[in-house]
Amino acid sequence: MALAVKPGDTVVDATVGNGFDTEQLARWVGPAGRVIGFDVQALAIHATRHRLERAGLADRVELHEAGHETMGDHVPDGLAAAVFNLGYLPRADKTIVTQPATTVPALDAAFERLRAGGLLCVVIYTGHNGGAEEAAAVEAWAQAIPSDAAIVTRMQRVNPQRPAPYLVTVQRR
Ligand code: SAH
Repeated sequence: MALAVKPGDTVVDATVGNGFDTEQLARWVGPAGRVIGFDVQALAIHATRHRLERAGLADRVELHEAGHETMGDHVPDGLAAAVFNLGYLPRADKTIVTQPATTVPALDAAFERLRAGGLLCVVIYTGHNGGAEEAAAVEAWAQAIPSDAAIVTRMQRVNPQRPAPYLVTVQRR
């Protein structure tokens, strides 16, 4: 993502959580760029707003306490990048998890809005209830992208001790 995102770009954090990715994206886009973030939990939006204010980055970030499936209402075309970090918010309510029925339409919306060379990163977890089903839905979605439309990759531990998160990336041609 560091290579795909340049100062002045617009990017999406589809699952802001505690805002670690939001903060990093805000640094990369610089003062002229924009980060558009989504989370369904007020707790996550507040934690992220606080983190960004402390870091002096809040001015370039727009946070929505709304599901990423509403992206169509808030996100313009021409994105340099979008990140989805799926599953649950660490140290919070582990029953609030991303769901295939909303994740897949949101991935579609983000991919449609990527500019040429734009990068979609999806971090996938399989260790919680429903995780394996969501992983299968994301993989089916990614496999259906024609190879002349994007380069799709997967990076995954080969020797995990327990279910480990893995990364699917989609780079628009
Ligand atoms: N990237 C975050 C961690 C994300 S954890 C960090 O750096 O801290 C996954 C997040 O997805 C949780 O905060 C959860 O509330 C959120 N989430 C669940 N369903 C969602 C949806 N439909 N739209 C947006 N966010 C959602």
